[in-house]
Amino acid sequence: MEIDRDLGIRFMPRAPQIDTNSAAQAAPVVNYPSAPETGSNDERIAAVAKHITDCERCGLCERRTQTVPGEGNTSAELVFIGEGPGADEDKQGRPFVGAAGQLLDKMIVAMGLQREQVFICNVVKCRPPGNRTPEETEIVSCMPWLEQQIQIIKPKIICTLGNTPLRALSGNPQAGITRLRGKEFNWNKIPVIPTFHPSYLLRNQEAKKPCWDDLKLVIAKLGRTLPS
Ligand code: URA
Repeated sequence: MEIDRDLGIRFMPRAPQIDTNSAAQAAPVVNYPSAPETGSNDERIAAVAKHITDCERCGLCERRTQTVPGEGNTSAELVFIGEGPGADEDKQGRPFVGAAGQLLDKMIVAMGLQREQVFICNVVKCRPPGNRTPEETEIVSCMPWLEQQIQIIKPKIICTLGNTPLRALSGNPQAGITRLRGKEFNWNKIPVIPTFHPSYLLRNQEAKKPCWDDLKLVIAKLGRTLPS
């Protein structure tokens, strides 16, 4: 069992293997088409998005209006990962377009970046009904898509927003953002800095300052300076 110094014991089963060419084809529920290995990053990310559109590997597909694969710069140095689409995102097929998204946009600009420079996505690509927290089986079903996206983009750093992506990437269901925000760990060799979810910031103004401290860590990690 792999132990992470800060985050505890990894619990989540590795996401199902991504390989359609394997002779030992798994049952459809764990059979994920591979991302293309050639082509531009835009083309490769679009191919993954198409696979996500067709995905029916968990119950979230039943009530979605559309999938929300993620969007942005497919060679971004920075990727933001949220929990899952809300009602606005489900309608538009785009991540973080509601109130939380507007705050995320402001956070990105405050960091001296534009939304178009980063890639924004979620742990689960379909809206959990009533915006409930995604269940572990839904997260495990969806993780291969996130893994494929990150493998293609190869960001310098990932910033997770809230508990769900922190737990999904650290593999620790007990991980809590209040204690672990700003504490860097690695996921597939990529540094991850967890911070609060913008929805939480909208309800808890006092969390904005520590969140800004975390974003400053991200800026420093990127080798960038704050806009004056
Ligand atoms: N909250 C999320 O976690 N993701 C979105 O895309 C929107 C709101």
